[in-house]
Amino acid sequence: MFKFQFHCHNCSETFRISIVHLHSKDEITCPNCVSRLPEKALDSLRQLSESFMDAVDVIYNNNSTVGWGLSIISDEIVIPSSYDHLNSAFMVNKDGSKTLWNHRAVEREISFDF
Ligand SMILES: [Zn+2]
Repeated sequence: MFKFQFHCHNCSETFRISIVHLHSKDEITCPNCVSRLPEKALDSLRQLSESFMDAVDVIYNNNSTVGWGLSIISDEIVIPSSYDHLNSAFMVNKDGSKTLWNHRAVEREISFDF
């Protein structure tokens, strides 16, 4: 079944959680060092999981003669990398937070001298 793979940059532990089990998680912590995933990240992953399952159910219930199927593919690159939070050049979202995604950026390659 579909799973998210988590990588803890604090201790380098990697673990997986099935998307169908995310709805019942109050928190996600590293099984090795108990670092906690930010709550807002868990909320977003729950929404992504539910949206994916909604899409599958819509396809499953579609009475069209043409069937569809879905899968999730990944190159398993960990994002953000442990280096990303140290990077002094980044893009900025509408709300002023940093983003890794070009299509969300309102400002690009803002750089600060430390
Ligand atoms: Zn850890």
